[in-house]
Amino acid sequence: MATINDNYLKLPGSYLFAEIGRRVAAYKEAHPEADIIRLGIGDVTQPLPAVCIEAMHKAVDEMAHKETFRGYGPEQGYEFLTKAILKNNYESKGIHFGTDEIFVSDGSKSDTGNIQEIFGSADKVAITDPVYPVYLDTNVMAGRTGSLKEDGHFEGVTYLPCTAENNFAPDLPKERVDMLYLCCPNNPTGTTLSREELTKWVNWAKENDTVILFDAAYAAYITEPDVPTTIYEIPGAKDVAIEFRSFSKTAGFTGTRCGYTIVPHTVTGKAADGSRVEYNKLWNRRHTTKFNGTAYIVQRGAAAIYTEEGQKQVKELVGYYLENARIIREGLTKAGLEVYGGINAPYIWLKTPNNMKSWDFFDLLLKQVNIVGTPGAGFGPCGEGYFRLTSFGNREDTLRAVERFQQLKF
Ligand code: PLP
Repeated sequence: MATINDNYLKLPGSYLFAEIGRRVAAYKEAHPEADIIRLGIGDVTQPLPAVCIEAMHKAVDEMAHKETFRGYGPEQGYEFLTKAILKNNYESKGIHFGTDEIFVSDGSKSDTGNIQEIFGSADKVAITDPVYPVYLDTNVMAGRTGSLKEDGHFEGVTYLPCTAENNFAPDLPKERVDMLYLCCPNNPTGTTLSREELTKWVNWAKENDTVILFDAAYAAYITEPDVPTTIYEIPGAKDVAIEFRSFSKTAGFTGTRCGYTIVPHTVTGKAADGSRVEYNKLWNRRHTTKFNGTAYIVQRGAAAIYTEEGQKQVKELVGYYLENARIIREGLTKAGLEVYGGINAPYIWLKTPNNMKSWDFFDLLLKQVNIVGTPGAGFGPCGEGYFRLTSFGNREDTLRAVERFQQLKF
């Protein structure tokens, strides 16, 4: 008889967005006239940059002719893209990688979810709390955790609380761990780690033989000079860190799908016989076995952002969302709310007034001013008492929402 992977049963249902949908639908049914503004979405709303469209049209035309048609490409990505990424995002900062240390994919969700496969099944995991749920859920599925406890934490996982009290910069774990996920800029808090803080983490990882899994999906939103856009700006990071980047929020590729992962040859783990093995070798094996490459057309679109005009267009796009973030931040502050994030990220994290539970604040916001956001509790127990708004809406809705916040009574 076939059995199931029982670890999946440890996971609670994907309750967050389903529950948001249920509550909004119920409210709409009772108030069909309500003009609801959604500031909860984690998806972009503006079209792809013109350079990407143009490059993809050209690539489609290439596919139409025998001479220029492309079938399977290199699983790790075409060199026209990998070289452009390395040159623009790393070499420009004096950081050098070979094209065999970068792996193009269909996005960071797959990469941050799949990376755990190349680690030992008994390896200890640490995650910040609250955080993007994929890191934890994929480790639960892989059996690296115990069961879900009453307090919302899984047994066997080291949680690093990130709250206003520690300025969203987690303390170093008290016990050593093998894998440590850091998300910077963070989803959902929109906060970042400074160069000094990141240096502390890299040094700690080196001392403890820990691998940092660094998710920089929102790196393009960093505006402050003290916040590194790549962990490899920190000396020694090449020995301990794997970095994930995405075109989704950088260039509007959420539906187009493209991302990449840097796995330096210098990051190694211990094999059963005690020898050190490069994670790069394992990731290459995994990637070429389970993935058949990102579409040529999509890679052409992605590479187009590295032209001079492409850089201008993505800066404009990111700038649009960052301006929305500024409008939300300032508007909410004016309305008397305590807000975080939104300076180096498209997320604004607010403290619920009067210590309200995050779901109670969701209901209050929906009923009083017809605005939908995301309850912080959905991102981990330390998200309770907080609420996430995103700047991915269009400008008009963002301005209207901020006006409505001034009417909010709490
Ligand atoms: N990492 C973080 C922190 C995210 O918030 C998201 C998307 O919301 C992703 C990764 C996934 O990005 P992609 O669209 O490249 O799969």
